[in-house]
Amino acid sequence: MKRQLLDILACPVCRYSPLVLDEVLTDGEDIKEGLIRCPKCNSTYPIVEGIPDMLPPKDR
Ligand SMILES: [Zn+2]
Repeated sequence: MKRQLLDILACPVCRYSPLVLDEVLTDGEDIKEGLIRCPKCNSTYPIVEGIPDMLPPKDR
């Protein structure tokens, strides 16, 4: 996913924005692996092979 996508993502649980990004593997502006975290409710959303999984943790 592009780094800029983080600006428009909101937490699906509590609607908080902006979310925090923990980068693990990046390729320029492209984030391949990482973790998106909500600082308000502490939900986490993994980025796997460049795709952010924004499902609420309870639906996983
Ligand atoms: Zn949240």
